[in-house]
Amino acid sequence: MIKFDNTFTTLPSFLFEQVSPTPLTKPKLIHVSSHQNDIGLGLSSIDLLNWLNGNEAIPGEQRISTRYAGHQFGVWAGQLGDGRAISLGEILNHGERFEIQTKGSGLTPFSRMGDGKAVIRSSVREYLCSEAMFGLNIPTSRVLALITGEDPVYRESVERSALVARVFPTNLRFGHFEMCYHFNKKDELKSLSEYLRKYFFNDMSLEEMLEEIVARSAKLMAKWQDVGFCHGVMNTDNMSVLGLTIDYGPFGFLEDTNLSHICNHSDHQGRYAYNQQPSVGMWNLERFLVCFIELVSKDFLQRTLSSYPVIFEKEYTSLCRKKLGLMKEEADDFKLFISALKMLDQLSIDYTFFWRELSNFRQGDRESLNGIWNYYGNRQELIDWLGDYSSRLTLESISSEDRSIQMKKNNPKYILRNYIAQEIIDDVEKGSSEKLQNWLEVLYRPFDEHRNFESYSKPTPSELKNFVVSCSS
Ligand code: AMP
Ligand code: MG
Repeated sequence: MIKFDNTFTTLPSFLFEQVSPTPLTKPKLIHVSSHQNDIGLGLSSIDLLNWLNGNEAIPGEQRISTRYAGHQFGVWAGQLGDGRAISLGEILNHGERFEIQTKGSGLTPFSRMGDGKAVIRSSVREYLCSEAMFGLNIPTSRVLALITGEDPVYRESVERSALVARVFPTNLRFGHFEMCYHFNKKDELKSLSEYLRKYFFNDMSLEEMLEEIVARSAKLMAKWQDVGFCHGVMNTDNMSVLGLTIDYGPFGFLEDTNLSHICNHSDHQGRYAYNQQPSVGMWNLERFLVCFIELVSKDFLQRTLSSYPVIFEKEYTSLCRKKLGLMKEEADDFKLFISALKMLDQLSIDYTFFWRELSNFRQGDRESLNGIWNYYGNRQELIDWLGDYSSRLTLESISSEDRSIQMKKNNPKYILRNYIAQEIIDDVEKGSSEKLQNWLEVLYRPFDEHRNFESYSKPTPSELKNFVVSCSS
């Protein structure tokens, strides 16, 4: 028996609507993630399928979609809301709160021009990347299950329906607060702030909570940059107030390094390019913080916002040192890292492959980098950079073996390359869950060796590069 502890529905009714799901036709439970154990649902596969798909209700559930607004691509977009996501309720297990939400469950009062549906392609991508980010130790929403259906869904072509059940402590986004502020719902804004404080921030003061949200967001951006993750649609409605990565759409990891990489084909201006993400994070926080202008002082808000670049830089510098395997702190370490990025960009070297291979580097031993030479040849820019790196390493007291071990804990061997995701999507389209399951094992432990997957740790084969991903999902 699932014990719900629904709290969102105690909030003012402006913030949500009760909804009924539209079940997928001929639903098939493709996968249930290991996260189910944390939630402690204890449902059989068939009961889980029937519940998530909306064929059966469970006593105590409350299906709702929430009202939020947002700035999309830098422009105020007004009301948006959960257009195809339905929360089934919140579950408390061992003191942890899990909100279960299905994405692709049909029309809601917030669907606007959309159909409320999701396709297999985007659902598999969200499923994989949520768990991949978890494996990379990056805060993220998680997933519970993946279901496919037989309904036609009209995108650029006709695709098949699917839904992802995703899980987070709360679905609250910057956009929920923007909704209250821009529509002058002062009481609702207050209730929502109180609610967030009470349930998700240990009852700290509003000021402390806002500082914490800024800090978490800054650290999240540093972590994204560190692994080369590009979100693709950093609109304010896609920013979690808990500092989680949410709403996986046209995301991508850097493959051949291009610092101005745009992973979303629909982002014509490159607003959300890889190297723009940290500053967009700050822009988004400004849109968020302004909502509290009548609850805390303007001075405080300005001060809190200006803590963002400081926290970001501190976190990012620390992650960069780890990537380089530096234990000591030297003033020019960040410069050394940036010069590596520029060199990788200039030579279009695979980001993940480079850092992992660099973990094998031994000073004065050219062969230790055979992996890189074999792929990229003798490039002067690379040789010059390695010279600087070698000089810096002379200040370290750790052995190259120990440095290698440390670096391999910080430089993943495997990331979710777009072509890998596509191989898995093709398999799921055929009704199989084999590749998905096998890959999850790799993605949960991306820093380890996985012998059967060795070839996937290499730079993306040229015929599989330049994969185009759009907003359509
Ligand atoms: P996204 O860019 O995916 O974050 O979506 C932006 C807004 O559009 C959100 O309010 C979504 O709920 C809504 N939306 C996206 N796709 C659909 C769809 N197929 N049907 C209804 N609403 C959608
Ligand atoms: Mg969204």
